[in-house]
Amino acid sequence: MLRIAVGGISHETNTFNPIPTGLEAFRILREEELLKNGATRPLLESGIDVIPAIHAAAPPSGLIGRRAYTSLREELLSRIEAAGKLDGICLFLHGAMEVEGVGDGETDLVRSIRQVVGNDVLISASLDLHGNITPELVRITDILTAYRTAPHIDALETRTRAATLLANCIGKEKKPVSVMVKPPILLPGEMAVTSVEPAASLYRRLPGVIKSRCVLDSSILVGMAWADTPNASASVIVVAEDTDCRDQAYGKACGLAEEIWSKREEFCLDAPSGAVDETIEITRSYPKKPVFISDSGDNITGGAAGDNPLFVERLTSLNVEDALVAGIMDPAAVTLCRKVGVGNRTRLEIGGKLDRIDGQPLEIEGKVTNISDDGVAVRIGSVDVILTAHWKAFTTLKDFRPYGIDPLERQIVVVKQGYLFPELRRAAAFSLMALSPGFTNLQLDQLRYRNVRRPIYPLDKEFTWEPPLN
Ligand SMILES: [Zn+2]
Repeated sequence: MLRIAVGGISHETNTFNPIPTGLEAFRILREEELLKNGATRPLLESGIDVIPAIHAAAPPSGLIGRRAYTSLREELLSRIEAAGKLDGICLFLHGAMEVEGVGDGETDLVRSIRQVVGNDVLISASLDLHGNITPELVRITDILTAYRTAPHIDALETRTRAATLLANCIGKEKKPVSVMVKPPILLPGEMAVTSVEPAASLYRRLPGVIKSRCVLDSSILVGMAWADTPNASASVIVVAEDTDCRDQAYGKACGLAEEIWSKREEFCLDAPSGAVDETIEITRSYPKKPVFISDSGDNITGGAAGDNPLFVERLTSLNVEDALVAGIMDPAAVTLCRKVGVGNRTRLEIGGKLDRIDGQPLEIEGKVTNISDDGVAVRIGSVDVILTAHWKAFTTLKDFRPYGIDPLERQIVVVKQGYLFPELRRAAAFSLMALSPGFTNLQLDQLRYRNVRRPIYPLDKEFTWEPPLN
């Protein structure tokens, strides 16, 4: 009976966000809970002995604290060690995990696993297409496969593919090898939505590459632009059946990477964009509702602080009617509003406590209109503001419900995300991307990069690039 261990640590790290990510941010799956992950089903169904290590995942945020990471890694390693002889290990990773004092988290994790299991045990890993991949990770992992959709609707499919490819290779006694080419491009995810050109046609090319002889899988990774690390960039990964096919796979990877490079100037936002006040002006006179504005520089789903009150300040100063801001992360303000109670007025400061670089607390006077488990709603003039006690990205209509607010009834709905998530995209009469400040600033030249390799587009524009010789 084949024996495969499953697990992983998954995090998208925004290195511009100075607030460290601790252990409490992680949701940890162990034992049966981890086996219930749908990705292990094909393994279990084909009679493979699946050994759950641990899987820990946290929403996008700042650098992972070293102690938090080490304790997760040690638990994962001890379970792999206790499992005894293994034929393979399947990891569910992100690819953009950065750890304080360690650097690239995935590389450190797989390196540590190799120290326990040696080089003969096959290791397969699924990745988010927003991962920034190191050459070492590709060298020490046998199979790497990434999501093919952003916004992501194929997470389970990708993990299942990582598991099935691994089981197939073990069954056929193959030793696959992955190769990677990294075009020097920093691409915010908002400019590479996979249903929008040029990303759409690039991703459509993947099945063709996979159909070629000797190639097991291929991935395009957009990368994570808000990570100031030497490995931040787009990547193309191709998995070859064995070392004999390596050159052919490398050729395919170069072809895709060159195509990404040639289209570098075509990647753009898929919604009209502008400065904060411009987006408000366009929206307030729009004939239909709701109009969604993405406060893209303070995008919680990209690891920003999520507490910049800039939009509240602008909407109230401009006397905008019928607007909603969802939401601002401010536990202290939530506690205060809970004490004040529904229906009562209060003066308080909101936001600007986490991102102190681009924001500052905003003094407001408003009426508490709703108190729920995770936050409160406050009405300031004719602007409703949801304040949350934890990071909360309002990505579905259901997310608004606890606050007694129907976003479909509002003229303007400001959300702290970048590209609109699918349900909001469908609900929006119109949507705009505000080029606002923050740790997910879409204007990359406004961020202070120190560690990315140079030259890199779009920070540098006047240079040529060719894939390195294999
Ligand atoms: Zn992602």
